[in-house]
Amino acid sequence: MSAHTGSLFPIDEELPEPRAPLSGEFAHVALNRPLDCEFTYEVPPELSEGAVPGARVAVQFGRKREVGVIVGLDTSCDLPPAKVRPLSAVLDERALLSPELLSLTKWMAKRYACSWGEALSAVLPAGLKRERSRKVIRMISATAMATEEVMKELAKGSEKQHRLLRTLLEVEGSVEMRDLMRRLNLSDAPAQTLARKGLALIERVEVSSDPLEGSIGDRTRPERLTDEQSACLASIVPAVQERKGKTFLLRGVTGSGKTEVYLRAIEAAVEAGRGAIVLVPEIALTPQTVGWFRSRFGDVAVLHSKMTDSQRLDAWLRVSSGEVKVVVGARSALFAPVVDLGVIVVDEEHEPSFKQGSIPRYHARDAAVERARLEGAVCILGSATPSLESRALAARGEYVRLDLPKRVGEMPLPAVEVVDMRQEPPGKGGSEAFSRRLRQQLEACLERGEQAIVFLNRRGFVPVLYCPSCREVVRCEQCDVGLTWHRRIDRAVCHSCCEERHRPRACPSCTSPALRYLGYGSERVEEVLRELMPTARIARMDSDTMRRNEDYEVTLEAFGRGELDILVGTQMIAKGLDFPRVTLVGIVSADTGLHLPDFRAAERTFQLLAQVAGRAGRSSLGGRIVIQTEAPDHPAVVYATLHDYDGFAVQEEKIRQQLSYPPYGRLIRVIFEHERLEAVESCAAALGAALREGLKTAKAAILGPAIAPFAQLRGKHRYHLMLKLRDEEAAETATSLLRGLAAAEKTVSVKVDVDAVSML
Ligand code: ADP
Ligand code: ZN
Ligand code: ZN
Repeated sequence: MSAHTGSLFPIDEELPEPRAPLSGEFAHVALNRPLDCEFTYEVPPELSEGAVPGARVAVQFGRKREVGVIVGLDTSCDLPPAKVRPLSAVLDERALLSPELLSLTKWMAKRYACSWGEALSAVLPAGLKRERSRKVIRMISATAMATEEVMKELAKGSEKQHRLLRTLLEVEGSVEMRDLMRRLNLSDAPAQTLARKGLALIERVEVSSDPLEGSIGDRTRPERLTDEQSACLASIVPAVQERKGKTFLLRGVTGSGKTEVYLRAIEAAVEAGRGAIVLVPEIALTPQTVGWFRSRFGDVAVLHSKMTDSQRLDAWLRVSSGEVKVVVGARSALFAPVVDLGVIVVDEEHEPSFKQGSIPRYHARDAAVERARLEGAVCILGSATPSLESRALAARGEYVRLDLPKRVGEMPLPAVEVVDMRQEPPGKGGSEAFSRRLRQQLEACLERGEQAIVFLNRRGFVPVLYCPSCREVVRCEQCDVGLTWHRRIDRAVCHSCCEERHRPRACPSCTSPALRYLGYGSERVEEVLRELMPTARIARMDSDTMRRNEDYEVTLEAFGRGELDILVGTQMIAKGLDFPRVTLVGIVSADTGLHLPDFRAAERTFQLLAQVAGRAGRSSLGGRIVIQTEAPDHPAVVYATLHDYDGFAVQEEKIRQQLSYPPYGRLIRVIFEHERLEAVESCAAALGAALREGLKTAKAAILGPAIAPFAQLRGKHRYHLMLKLRDEEAAETATSLLRGLAAAEKTVSVKVDVDAVSML
């Protein structure tokens, strides 16, 4: 990367007389801008002490004052003196970022096609990206003026205000505004309007503490490890002591005691005076999980997306001072400034949520492996169903594979039954969601006084509003996505952009009034279940019912105390739950994700089935899984029935190899978006042609450009193309080529997604 001047003028404009290079002290500063270079500033003598690599500085960039990070120092500078400006201020007393984090972000920039400054922006907590950090947050609540009549009035034309106010009335009390707006996919405008009308109250308050801060766990330290756990630790612990970067792929069936292996590895690090980071998917970051680590290590810092800026900043500073050694968190916790990092754990390493969707589009699992290498730390990737990518790297000897093939305490894996839904008699009113076999098993389970989990990966009441006369489904006006009817709120909702509207009484395109309501979501499954089993105590958990963190806690605690018989839910209940009295898991449909136009559809389905199945039979009561499907012969279903991860992987690898999909080579996806279809088409075509030309000699294949599976999202037309790269060299060439091409495009949004996990 080359160093440029801090001014906006191109450097080769009006070249000065040849002259000796400037001497003195100069800092290379990375700014959070999509520019492929760092900027050089002079270090004035009074700032010299604090101006070290890793420190944040304020600089003048063009006419603006910006915050950047010093990534390097120099004693000379060959830019024209008039163009080198001084640093305006050094913002930190000591370097905030270690040399390892600087190297890691540099690696990210290269790997994920972004600038160093953009990569650094993912690492710094929001509070540190500005010169002064915010200490107050905004809370919003509904006022007494928000009555039924008002709601009716709003429903007539102010959909966004209606949606916001309805949610506020539901949560009863005040919620953090920024978080709520993010979840509802709204700007601040509707909130401001409601506040002006006196219907909502926005208050600025000092930050209260994080709910996860207080959680304490109950996981006692087992006296004895199982033989398999001991064997794993016999490889891991010496690696922690050796201080050599090393990655382990820990494949352990659900309930095999992976967590205990993580905990012991961290103990080894802490004993040696080193620190640790544990990454879990956001959805699994519950007080229960945090508690396990806190009960073992005392003061544990938690980092997750729902924290406010200042909570995050607090945690960050406590970690960087060395006061706290163990960090648990979601994706971005990978960048916690742990002093002398010894262990990084990535639990559920196969989870797509470890990939960030916005710039920098990094994969936290792969970045964790790189960080461990840089820090001389051990990285443990754990999963019951590791990604095929990690499995392949282990097979190639880059990772050490470790296995926990059995559940702790000789507990057998639950028996899995498959019900072919094509053989079931037709039902009506949604009762067809439950096969005879699943109903029978649910009744038997409740008679024994045990508990059941009913899983369906689809929200709402009815997912398909179908018009028989035009043979089309009713779609969102902004997105190429069918609307789902949510009955309790009686709205048709787009699950992509969150827009809601009145339930259409007739087909919007042909005005035929005979709309048909097809299929079922979790809301309907819950209702049908209540009809089928009137005495059962049932609760539903999905993002419609779980508006607040407390709701989640309350429901799970009630379930844990045996006050509920059946928990119905979406993927929110697929992970981590550990309830000994759950002896039955019913999967209402294994098919929801099976036919998506994504080469990982089978892998994802297999992983999800294994995950959900893992919720049953976690005690001596035993367990049983009933999987309902219309594709009983699909390998994802067949191998899940057999609990055969490697069997599934081997057959899936054959398909990937034939088609040169990962893990046989790397994959980059490029997405083009714009309001005007012609602009998208011509940009995609031009960029496709440039890539074909630029990659002529590389081991690369280019698919597309073509219309993306979601042809339209939020009012923007979408095209995409895919690059299959046979080797690392081709991947590097393609990444740097794409970076230039994408940066040069001014009209259409061009997203370069290296190692993409979604093909939609
Ligand atoms: P996984 O993360 O692999 O799904 P867990 O870590 O949840 O498995 O372990 C399953 C259960 O086994 C937990 O209740 C845990 O407390 C218990 N357990 C783990 N290791 C041991 C051990 N060595 N001895 C006794 N119980 C253990
Ligand atoms: Zn939409
Ligand atoms: Zn129609």
